[in-house]
Amino acid sequence: MRHSGRDRRKGEEQTMNQLERTLAIIKPDSFAGGHTGEILAMIEAAGFRILGMRMTRLSKAQAQGFYDVHRGKPFFAGLVEFMTEGPVVVLALERENAIKAWRDLMGATNPAGAAEGTIRKKFGTAIDRNAVHGSDAPETAAYELGFFFSGADLA
Ligand code: ATP
Ligand code: MG
Repeated sequence: MRHSGRDRRKGEEQTMNQLERTLAIIKPDSFAGGHTGEILAMIEAAGFRILGMRMTRLSKAQAQGFYDVHRGKPFFAGLVEFMTEGPVVVLALERENAIKAWRDLMGATNPAGAAEGTIRKKFGTAIDRNAVHGSDAPETAAYELGFFFSGADLA
């Protein structure tokens, strides 16, 4: 039996309103620059619930493991160097459509092309010093959340 338009809309609405989790990082440049507080305020103002938050300093092996998908790319060594240069704040965020919503708030990878009002526009200074990280898909969010937080922390 075919679903009526009404049923289909209802189904889409439920999918759209699904609570979702994503992993965010306040990168070494924005932490060192003293922008952590303002970034956290932007996160809260955008309706994210902070499920987990931890300050840490990544080892080289951790940064390589975290960005494993980029291993072999020309910018990989520089990315690892940057991510290990100072403390970071890792965050587990929850919201409806959290993955896309957080990437929208971050702005484009290259701050030069990021939209007004985004975090990267405000605090990023170069493509390889772009203030914040965000998961890019449900599978990567699951991997990245598990990389920094135990299931018990986020229950
Ligand atoms: P992130 O994964 O950090 O949230 P992103 O998903 O917007 O950023 P990716 O394509 O996953 O971008 O790249 C990971 C990181 O590698 C970027 O944040 C950026 O710092 C760096 N990077 C990506 N492309 C380049 C490039 N062409 N030159 C230098 N650094 C780059
Ligand atoms: Mg990415």
